[in-house]
Amino acid sequence: MTQTDTIKRKPSDQATRHFDILIVGAGISGIGAAYHLTDQCPGKSFAVLEAYETFGGTWHMHTYPGIRSDSDLYTFGYRFKPWLGTPIATAEEILSYMGEVIDENDLARHIRYQHRITSANWSSADKLWTVNVTRGDTGEDLVFTANFLWMCQGYYDHAKGYTPEWDGMDAYQGEIVHPQTWPENFDYKGKNVIVIGSGATAATLIPAIAGDCKHVTLLQRSPTYFIPGRNENELVDELRKLGIQETWIHEIARRKILFDQAELTQRAIDEPEILKAELLASVREFLGPDYDVDKHFTPKYRPWQQRIAFVPDGDLFQGITSGAASVVTDHIDRFTPKGILLKSGEELEADIIITATGFNLSVLGGIPFAVDGKSVDFADTVTYRGMMFTGVPNLAWVFGYFRASWTLRVDIMGDFLCRLFKHMDAKRVKQVRVELPHADKDTPRAPWIEESNFNPGYLARSMHLMPKCGSKPEWQHTQDYWSERDALPAIDLDEEAFHYE
Ligand SMILES: Cc1cc2nc3c(=O)[nH]c(=O)nc-3n(C[C@H](O)[C@H](O)[C@H](O)COP(=O)(O)OP(=O)(O)OC[C@H]3O[C@@H](n4cnc5c(N)ncnc54)[C@H](O)[C@@H]3O)c2cc1C
Repeated sequence: MTQTDTIKRKPSDQATRHFDILIVGAGISGIGAAYHLTDQCPGKSFAVLEAYETFGGTWHMHTYPGIRSDSDLYTFGYRFKPWLGTPIATAEEILSYMGEVIDENDLARHIRYQHRITSANWSSADKLWTVNVTRGDTGEDLVFTANFLWMCQGYYDHAKGYTPEWDGMDAYQGEIVHPQTWPENFDYKGKNVIVIGSGATAATLIPAIAGDCKHVTLLQRSPTYFIPGRNENELVDELRKLGIQETWIHEIARRKILFDQAELTQRAIDEPEILKAELLASVREFLGPDYDVDKHFTPKYRPWQQRIAFVPDGDLFQGITSGAASVVTDHIDRFTPKGILLKSGEELEADIIITATGFNLSVLGGIPFAVDGKSVDFADTVTYRGMMFTGVPNLAWVFGYFRASWTLRVDIMGDFLCRLFKHMDAKRVKQVRVELPHADKDTPRAPWIEESNFNPGYLARSMHLMPKCGSKPEWQHTQDYWSERDALPAIDLDEEAFHYE
């Protein structure tokens, strides 16, 4: 079944506007949430409201050449559906996997596309969210009600990527493009291209266009860590040769990958210099002894303070050694009519400048929320384990992992929320809110994620807008899958933090 067939299957009852649970967003988190509700809480009514005309979120809206995951799909895929392809997957492959999850679990009837939530108001008297929605296709304004909001709207502004303001941009005579809003049929063939940025997007885009451009220059202020490796998993290949069934292979591959990642993360803390030397040696292997790896591929921070991008088959480095791509590490002074003037005084000329400069973080999709008529500023809330927020009843936000695959949290939060719904039913209550214990009310607040733990630019720029953390582990967003996979199932739903009515 194609993606179009999947989205064409309409919800069975378009008229219903009240649900036990509304899932916001049909990306990998929202489709996962719908699966877990169907599987674990079959009695609950729910709908998935999605602003776009199709599912996929990130993997639908990013269309730049070469778009692919930088996580392996054994762990970026759901735990309940085996991944059969290569570890690193294209957006198209991820969309087709999600389409299969929708079809195999009859989820299409729950999804309403072109339904953008514009505001949400909680009434304590009615124990109900009232959600305003605008339809993208008809322009109609609709009102939905739900007992619980399962927020799966992602973590960045989908409308526009982040592009810094540089002097002279207006005078530049070429084209400036952000990968998040890649123009259809954009022609870069035979052109001189500069890609500003050093993250996974630049590393993906450059090898994909290098062969077709006259030349591509990766222009970075400072370098990033990369792990080059083959896009294959030897253990999986071996198990397949032995005829082991795919559900087992999926589980074994996940465990092995997560075990290795835990070790890598621990080494980044225990022996950062040794790990750093190993990572740089693997880059040197591709680029040869004469290449200035110190200047262009040696970051200032310790490994894992920002995501380490996997470079399948070293394709980025192959582009550099072939001469089709090159790296410049310098600061931008300003744009000129022909290109970019660097602080060193050098001018780089380009027909096209691609700003792979990242995202704008978005707090709960920028949707205006109110509780009993009072608007919510999430920066004033404290988070319960990066899932729920003080003062905002019956709402959870799926904010996945950065160091491990995002989707690992989709699955364990699915288990937690379904357990919470069953617990509420057993208690015959309709409202749950989290409140700090009295003794912790005046303890100092910490940022959503500590800068020393993880510090990419998009988080640093908007950290002040994010919910805060408290001093105890249950009031923190640890970004640590390995501790949460045991901690979340062990949460006592009657512990002090939870208040039911
Ligand atoms: C290019 C790129 C590559 C990435 N690669 C990886 C990777 O390899 N591994 C990894 O772990 N993470 C990766 N990430 C992070 C990635 O975004 C997440 O892993 C994951 O895809 C997020 O899924 P999501 O469903 O939570 O959010 P999204 O994919 O952002 O989807 C959210 C959905 O909610 C909808 N929505 C938003 N607001 C509203 C509203 N008001 N009303 C209705 N609907 C709304 C959106 O239209 C969208 O469809 C990558 C991100 C990018 C941008």
